[in-house]
Amino acid sequence: MRPLVAHIDLDALRHNYRIAQRCAPQSHSVAVIKADAYGHGALACARALADEAPAFAVASLEEALVLRRGGIDTPVVLLEGIFSADELEAVDAHRLWMTVHSHWQLEALEAYTPSAPIPVWVKVDTGMHRLGFDPDEAEAVWQALRDAPQAGQLHLMTHFATADAEHSSHYARQLDCAGALARRLKAPLSLANSPATLAHADAHGAYNRPGVMLYGSDPLERANDASRALEPVMTLRSEIIALRDIAPGERVGYGGRYRADTPRRIAVVAAGYGDGYDRHAADGTPMLVDGQRATLAGKVSMDMLTVDVTGIADARIGSEVVLWGRAANGAVLPVDEVARHCDTISYTLLTGVLPRVPRRYH
Ligand code: PLP
Repeated sequence: MRPLVAHIDLDALRHNYRIAQRCAPQSHSVAVIKADAYGHGALACARALADEAPAFAVASLEEALVLRRGGIDTPVVLLEGIFSADELEAVDAHRLWMTVHSHWQLEALEAYTPSAPIPVWVKVDTGMHRLGFDPDEAEAVWQALRDAPQAGQLHLMTHFATADAEHSSHYARQLDCAGALARRLKAPLSLANSPATLAHADAHGAYNRPGVMLYGSDPLERANDASRALEPVMTLRSEIIALRDIAPGERVGYGGRYRADTPRRIAVVAAGYGDGYDRHAADGTPMLVDGQRATLAGKVSMDMLTVDVTGIADARIGSEVVLWGRAANGAVLPVDEVARHCDTISYTLLTGVLPRVPRRYH
């Protein structure tokens, strides 16, 4: 078999989930497992957290049905609600919780007769300017839902744009706006994503919604004790499949981007952009070869990449190469660090690992 596997450490997932709970002991932590649990496998992650998480959050009905068909009967919140009125039947049948962010969704719910009231999270746009009701209309929406027999327990929800920043007046304005509304409506709140869970106790509500932190990525601009304790869940592991020594002046890979200025030893690794490894990775992007730091040398190809192993005396065909995560010797390469070298964020690297990479659960 081609030696490329995404190893998923479910103990690390549970460890990270408990950090979310410890940061916010008065809140329920809803585990956000949309986008196939950020690439880790939604069903496996839901099963691993089923005894602890009071609810899961996903982006669509299809994602919720994967959980229900897999035997998960924990509450599931649809973070974007329904995309068309005909989804309400399945929302009702599978006892899902829905977000309502737009008038058409409210009207669709009011026109439907569910078998039991559907719990609703009313999404308010406090400054992200993506989804949600205007704060001025939130009160009328809230009252309408309170009067609607179709709606069960109500929560007020908003999503932060800058909770990861160390100091952000934008965050403070969003929090003030949501807080004022909640006091007026006597509404229980769901505000906190991962950075707010980790660093903003003032945003902890009835339900928090940690996502990326569960997978061991630190979303904070400035790490704190809680974020430093997160453990990587995914280890993307491959092996060296070829080695060659090149002379000064020789170039490596497409476009000849990497040029050796001294004699170098170059290893070829079985992982490429056809597996989801980011093609934008710059020369110097770190990886772990037999647990030791080495760096990318040359553009990433579809099925392989090249790494400079000059300083690693015992690098050989079959040596372990960890693209992010934890090496066999315990060394860790955070996915956040790799993301910085690719000019992206951990979310895109984790969700970008393609289906041809087998996931192995431990
Ligand atoms: N809540 C909502 C509405 C989201 O869209 C997301 C993710 O984008 C989250 C929570 C989780 O965010 P994070 O992964 O930053 O914790």
